[in-house]
Amino acid sequence: LPIFEAIKKHDGKSTAVVHSLSERTFTYGELVNDVAAAKDKLQKNTNGKSAVGERIAFLVENGYDYVVTLLSILAAHAIAVPLSPTFPAHELRYILDQSASLMLLSSEKFQDKADEVLKEGMETTPINYKQEKIILGKTDDYVTLEEPESEKGGMMLYTSGTTNRPKGVLLPQSVLTAQSMSLLEAWNYSSEDILLHVLPLHHIHGTVNALLTPLFAGSTIEFQFPFNATAVWERLAAPYLSNPDSSKKPITFLTVVPTIYTRLLFSHSSLSPELQAASKTALHPSNLRLNISGSAALPTPVKSAWTELSGGNVLLERYGMTEVGMALSCGLDFKDRVDGSVGWPLPSVQARLIDTETHEVIKVGEEYDSTTDRERHGEIQLRGPTIFSEYWQNAEATEKEFVDGEDGQGKWFKTGDVAVRRVVDGAGKSGQNWAKGPMYFILGRKSADIIKTGGEKVSALEIEREMLSLPQISECAVVGLPSEAWGQKVAAVVVLSELGKTGGKGGKAWGPLDMRRALKELLANYKIPQEMRIVEDIPRNAMGKINKKQLVKELWGESL
Ligand code: ATP
Ligand code: MG
Repeated sequence: LPIFEAIKKHDGKSTAVVHSLSERTFTYGELVNDVAAAKDKLQKNTNGKSAVGERIAFLVENGYDYVVTLLSILAAHAIAVPLSPTFPAHELRYILDQSASLMLLSSEKFQDKADEVLKEGMETTPINYKQEKIILGKTDDYVTLEEPESEKGGMMLYTSGTTNRPKGVLLPQSVLTAQSMSLLEAWNYSSEDILLHVLPLHHIHGTVNALLTPLFAGSTIEFQFPFNATAVWERLAAPYLSNPDSSKKPITFLTVVPTIYTRLLFSHSSLSPELQAASKTALHPSNLRLNISGSAALPTPVKSAWTELSGGNVLLERYGMTEVGMALSCGLDFKDRVDGSVGWPLPSVQARLIDTETHEVIKVGEEYDSTTDRERHGEIQLRGPTIFSEYWQNAEATEKEFVDGEDGQGKWFKTGDVAVRRVVDGAGKSGQNWAKGPMYFILGRKSADIIKTGGEKVSALEIEREMLSLPQISECAVVGLPSEAWGQKVAAVVVLSELGKTGGKGGKAWGPLDMRRALKELLANYKIPQEMRIVEDIPRNAMGKINKKQLVKELWGESL
């Protein structure tokens, strides 16, 4: 993996990793040594079997040891399978079994959990492969890394499991490198960047965008985990307090999911006045170089509130998935961060839209159908060096999700997400050469977000966006319920904001009637939810995503 070549070239004395809370720091020099040593140890522990191409699962907390473990597995040309310590034992067991991992590496902290996983598995599932647990130590021995064979190893990540059981997605080393190269070009990571890392490390967002790519660039990654809004504010503010903490450098790069921005915004007002002021300074575009949102749709009110709080820093939204890394992104220029849009295909990513009705390619310039007076919805299909190679041990799914290209230049991956493209005035002129032409707007998943009601096609995401623009609503999920009269009918699950809890008639909480009345101003009649459920909260997974199938089952007893 060229990542080691890159890491070895960085200034050995520069800081690679910081543990935010303990204030421990680790240099690139230490990282190279420790990876080499860990890789050696790993290869000695495979009972004579070669580790090349084997899956090696690991359970390690966010921080330096995680980085060493991941890179050492890559260096051994094995396939790294990062496990989430928050998963219950049976979920971990599923991944260990599904990936047929040769070993489970665990840090000391998760030894008990690792034991539990192995034990449970042995009782419930007969295993026909050898799983071993080794504890990583540290050694100062210097071992040189040979040039890796880039196709043998890689990483296997499991999808978020939003629509189904998580699928193992195989990302060969060459794909990981291509993904990082694309992001380096688009987002200009540099050795000057200090990235605050608060994401889980078993998804592409936390591992590729926030770990491997900054390592390629020689940036500093500062881990603070699990996410805690107050701790994040304190850290961001530290260099700007009237009595600044000199050990804390300004954070320049933040990439998180929309729900984290929401939680940060929510907690800001409860900070002390000094922290409020200093953290606002920290967010200013001259200090926080880049703040990115992705993994789920960014609600426009969150984006606007962040811009206001930060004194003009506009969130950059991008679209990606486990199978493809990042595919579409808004640009570095603020004018290229258009509300509701995820921008353009990133460098080296080829994208096309396939009309959901006619199955034709929607060519650039043909996005609008004047005979029906409608925008054409299309499924996003992607190809290029950043796309995964296969669903692990699931040839059927792999086969199903790729289609041939008419031009004979390789297959396209069907993302299952639907979008429209629109020309946006003033955008796409920044000179970032990939950020031009019509912009993509995600309408949602074909399977759960495109609602067919009375012959009309409606995007759940679009309705959610309008609903969230009402200050009385703090969270919502729009779904299509089966309906005899309409095929499907639009329904919504709503969490009221503080204002919504008292904003109704006579100081009562807002009800469905109030909502419908307000939505009439914003949406065509057929898009207004016919059914609404008000709930205390909407369950989300580790990446802040809502499992709509499960939600509908729980609230209505229906299956999507
Ligand atoms: P599973 O495939 O197991 O059902 P998942 O699709 O949620 O889970 P991920 O690969 O983590 O697993 O998520 C990718 C999906 O997240 C995309 O297909 C898309 O639906 C959604 N997504 C990512 N970024 C955005 C965005 N900016 N706006 C809207 N949706 C997004
Ligand atoms: Mg998916």
